[in-house]
Amino acid sequence: KKTISVSQIKQAVNEAYDLYKNNQDGKNADYIPYLANIDKNLFGISVCLLDGQIIEVGDTQYKFGIESVSKVHTAILVLRQYGAEKLLSMIGADATGLPFNSIIAILLENDHPSTPLVNAGAITACSMVQPVGNPKEKWAAIVKNITELSGSAPELIDELYRSESATNFNNRSITWLLKNYNRIYDDPDLSLDLYTRQCSLGITAEQLSVCGATIANKGVNPKNGARVFDASLSPQITSLIATVGFYEHTGDWLFTSGIPAKTGVGGGVMGVLPGIMGIAAFAPPIDAAGNSVKAQLAIKHIMNKLDLSVFSGD
Ligand code: GLN
Repeated sequence: KKTISVSQIKQAVNEAYDLYKNNQDGKNADYIPYLANIDKNLFGISVCLLDGQIIEVGDTQYKFGIESVSKVHTAILVLRQYGAEKLLSMIGADATGLPFNSIIAILLENDHPSTPLVNAGAITACSMVQPVGNPKEKWAAIVKNITELSGSAPELIDELYRSESATNFNNRSITWLLKNYNRIYDDPDLSLDLYTRQCSLGITAEQLSVCGATIANKGVNPKNGARVFDASLSPQITSLIATVGFYEHTGDWLFTSGIPAKTGVGGGVMGVLPGIMGIAAFAPPIDAAGNSVKAQLAIKHIMNKLDLSVFSGD
C-alpha cells in the first residue's frame, strides 16, 4: 500500500478548498423547500485517517441534511441485522443507471429494487429494520447505528423533516409500488416515514468523514476503537457504494475520481478509500443528478493530487 504523509493530505485538502470556494456552479435542491434556503456558500472538507486523525477545512461543523448518504448507513444496519445474502435477495446490489428517485428501479430486476442506495431500495431497507412492527425502536436502531458509525449522534432537523414529509409525493408512489411487489416488510406509511426522517438527520462533514473511515477501517470506528460491524461486510458495503453512489453518473465519477462515494441532495458526499481513509465534503449547490458540485470538485482534486485511485493497484 502506498504511503501518503499527513502534510501531503493537508496540502491537497487546503488546495481544493482554495480552488473551489468561490465556485458558483449548481444550485441548491429546491424540490425540498428547506434545502432551497440553506446558505449556498457553505463549504467544508474533512478527511479522517485510520488512526483517527482529522484533517479539515471550512464549514466542517455545520449540520446539514444527510439525505441520501443515510442510505449507506441503513444498508449497513440491514447487513448487520440480516447478513449479506438476505440483502442481496430481498433488495439487490446492482447499479440502476437511473436517477435516485426513479420509480422504475423496482421493476428492473424481477420486482426487487436493485440496491439499497436508491430511494426504492432504501425504503425497502427501512421496512426491514428490526424490530419490525415497532417504529419507535426501529428509529432508535437507525440513529444508534449512525451514531456508532460516526462516533457522535446525528440530530434531527425538524424543519427539514416537516418540509420533506409535506412534499414527498414521488416517494409515496414508490412505497406503494414496492408494497404491490411484496417488497415492503412493515407498515408502508411507517416505512416511508422512517426513510424521510433518516434523510432529515443533520450531520457534519467531520462526522461523515468518520463514517467513511469506519467503513475503510473494516468496521472499526477509528475515533473510539469500537467495532461497529463485522470486518467481512466491509468490501460488500464499499462495493454497493462504488456501484451506484452517484446514480446515473456513477461510472463518470469513478472514472474521474477513483474513489467509491455516496452523495445526498443536502450537498454532502462521503467517500471510502479502503485501508487508507474516509473523506467527506459538503456544499449545498448540486448538479442535475443531485450531486454537490463543489464537493465533487474538491474530492476529485484531492484524489488526483494524491494519486490514490482504488483502481491504481498501488
Ligand atoms: N430525501 C431525498 C429524497 O428522497 C433524498 C434524495 C437524495 O439525497 N438524492 O428525495
